[in-house]
Amino acid sequence: MTSTGKARTALVIGGGIAGPVAAMALRRAGVEATVHEAYDSTADGVGGGMTIAPNGQDALDAIGMGDLVRAIGTPVTAMVLRSGTGRRLARFAPPPRLAAQRFVWRADLYRGIHDEAERRSVPVHHGKRLTGVTETDSGVTAQFADGTRASADILIGADGIRSTVRPLIDPAAPRPNYAGLVCFGARLDECGLPSTEGVMHMCFGKRAFFGYQVFDDSSAVWFVNLPHPDPMTAAEARAIDARQWLRTLRTAFAGDSIPALEMISATDPGRFLITGPMENMPSVPTWTRGRLALIGDAAHAPSSSSGQGASIAVESAVELARCLRDLPYDQAFAAYERLRRPRVERVIKFGARTNSNKTPGPVGRVLRDLLMPVGMKLIDPEKSAWQFGHHIDWDAKVSPPTGYGAP
Ligand SMILES: Cc1cc2nc3c(=O)[nH]c(=O)nc-3n(C[C@H](O)[C@H](O)[C@H](O)COP(=O)(O)OP(=O)(O)OC[C@H]3O[C@@H](n4cnc5c(N)ncnc54)[C@H](O)[C@@H]3O)c2cc1C
Repeated sequence: MTSTGKARTALVIGGGIAGPVAAMALRRAGVEATVHEAYDSTADGVGGGMTIAPNGQDALDAIGMGDLVRAIGTPVTAMVLRSGTGRRLARFAPPPRLAAQRFVWRADLYRGIHDEAERRSVPVHHGKRLTGVTETDSGVTAQFADGTRASADILIGADGIRSTVRPLIDPAAPRPNYAGLVCFGARLDECGLPSTEGVMHMCFGKRAFFGYQVFDDSSAVWFVNLPHPDPMTAAEARAIDARQWLRTLRTAFAGDSIPALEMISATDPGRFLITGPMENMPSVPTWTRGRLALIGDAAHAPSSSSGQGASIAVESAVELARCLRDLPYDQAFAAYERLRRPRVERVIKFGARTNSNKTPGPVGRVLRDLLMPVGMKLIDPEKSAWQFGHHIDWDAKVSPPTGYGAP
């Protein structure tokens, strides 16, 4: 800790997306950060795909990392919503003056971020599952499940939606709850369908939701959100054989006029991904306490339907580092929350609407299909600029929050 109370060292818990990005941003901000990840290796081969929105790319650009996503990602120029009859309900896209969203395979993104952390000499320690913390007047010590400890001036919880740090900050903190949908997906190397030319199609089938994009090289991605009223954990979903799930999905899309049956039938069960339950995370009232702070899904997890989780995780990682660069840690934490909370809560509220459209009853379905084209026609792409056009000025100095004097 410096004589002005500025943090000089940080423990970052979680080596997913927000953690390593925060550690790299902190390095840039003059704070020596080390990442501690529970699993023994990077999530190679894990998970399906995700989109990184222009605002997420902008946040990465703030620390010289945007090219990573542009190199591994395929542009998604628009999303088209369709009903199960194939009828086009709506088309939406960020304003054309902004960068296109990018589709990335989760494993490629994790690998790219980790390689970049290594290149920038940011230590990432694997096999370090945080179990507890001890705070003193001069620092914080993390305890890990393998019996080891590590100390620093501050600790940042980037440990995802099931965060361990969150209840250490506030034992009464909320936990995620089941959103009524189980998620699946697959990558097809050669799908035999024409390229969708940068468009991701999102289809409200009669019984389930199907998304897909066919790339120019004829490879493709598809994903399904299957309504499942009884809560199911990822482990329970994965305990069911892939062939059985594929049969269930084929039944769910029988009679729909979208390429779901074709793409699901072309899927090798060995490459079928059972992503697990979709979850809703209630608003987390306390993001920081003492020397501890939360970022990413640990602080603010939007519905995965929003396509913004990773992007706002990266934004928060960079903004927290900027605050810690300019202010003593207690003021930095307050400034960080002041900067971030209104924005992430707005993004989360906006994304929550999409989930409710995926689980309507029969009447809701008819209303959705009737009303969405009317509502969407009124949406000018510029109206989403608040979400997609968010810009972080890394060089701008962060001022102390109200109630604090000059640093
Ligand atoms: C099906 C699905 C689709 C999605 N699609 C999109 C999309 O298209 N676009 C988008 O932007 N977002 C999407 N998201 C959301 C996105 O994945 C998350 O918002 C993002 O991963 C959050 O990053 P994070 O670093 O906060 O958490 P994570 O990526 O979850 O990383 C947390 C890390 O912390 C580690 N950890 C956990 N506990 C401990 C502990 N006690 N000690 C040490 N380490 C620990 C975990 O092993 C993990 O590596 C989707 C999510 C799902 C489930």
